[in-house]
Amino acid sequence: MAVVAPAHGAASAPELEGRIAIVTGGSRGIGQAIVTELARRGADVVFTYRQDDEGARATIAHVDEAGRRAVAQRVDVRDPDAAARVVDACRELFGRLDILVNNAGIARDAVVWKMTDEAWAEVIETDLTAAFRFVRAAVPLMRAGHGGRIVSIASINALRGKFGQSNYAAAKAGLIGLTKSVAREVGGFGITANVVAPGLIDTAMAAALPEDVRQRSVSETVVGHLGTTADVAHAVAFLAGPGAAHITGAVLNVDGGQHM
Ligand code: NDP
Repeated sequence: MAVVAPAHGAASAPELEGRIAIVTGGSRGIGQAIVTELARRGADVVFTYRQDDEGARATIAHVDEAGRRAVAQRVDVRDPDAAARVVDACRELFGRLDILVNNAGIARDAVVWKMTDEAWAEVIETDLTAAFRFVRAAVPLMRAGHGGRIVSIASINALRGKFGQSNYAAAKAGLIGLTKSVAREVGGFGITANVVAPGLIDTAMAAALPEDVRQRSVSETVVGHLGTTADVAHAVAFLAGPGAAHITGAVLNVDGGQHM
């Protein structure tokens, strides 16, 4: 009896084939995983970083392995002109923008009565104001194309608060308000805007936490372990892909049930 292969025709194209993405903070951690996952799904990626040249080179190597193009832009996202410059570079290089991921973020922890103006401002500028500027710069280019996807990385601490993180939780909660408002403004142009809210993720930062703090986070989950950068990247890639066309203004927790 002859065995005949099913006639499925040519393999289908990756779901983000031909898409162009900007990812802030792509030199390590969650951002590096997001850049890599978007490239694996077919996108070319412009990513930013602040100082980690070696990390940026590693990200480019991951994208090369996926057979896509990566462009690294060394900028401080707190610079008021950074977003416009990065989006202009994307327009010049690729002529379009389909996906924006606001990922760059920092924490400067202190209880509120010891919080300095500098620690407050640095976190608000990096985690919230920079995202606003990237959205503002990206929307016209997305509108000029066929719509787009905006995904911002917040944190479950935006939803529940966190001891020592009033600045960080305020910035990340601000991202949620920004996203829901933007979703209303751009929905008619075929652009969606969503938030991914990770719990504690197993990055270098988590590894450096005191063991009791890390264990407390693990015990808060219902799955019994921390998430990985890939877990967050898969959620972002889903929201950036065709399967999420009808999802906007949403907050997707990636936290193993740590906050629910
Ligand atoms: P990392 O500290 O590992 O990486 C941060 C990235 O942002 C780096 O690429 C860094 O560049 C870049 N960055 C930071 N500040 C600036 C700046 N001023 N200008 C330009 N780039 C900057 O972070 P994570 O991967 O851990 O976190 C990524 C995002 O996820 C953040 O928004 C964070 O708040 C959020 N998050 C993380 C969690 C976790 O458990 N790790 C949990 C919940 C949310 P460079 O390498 O050059 O310094």
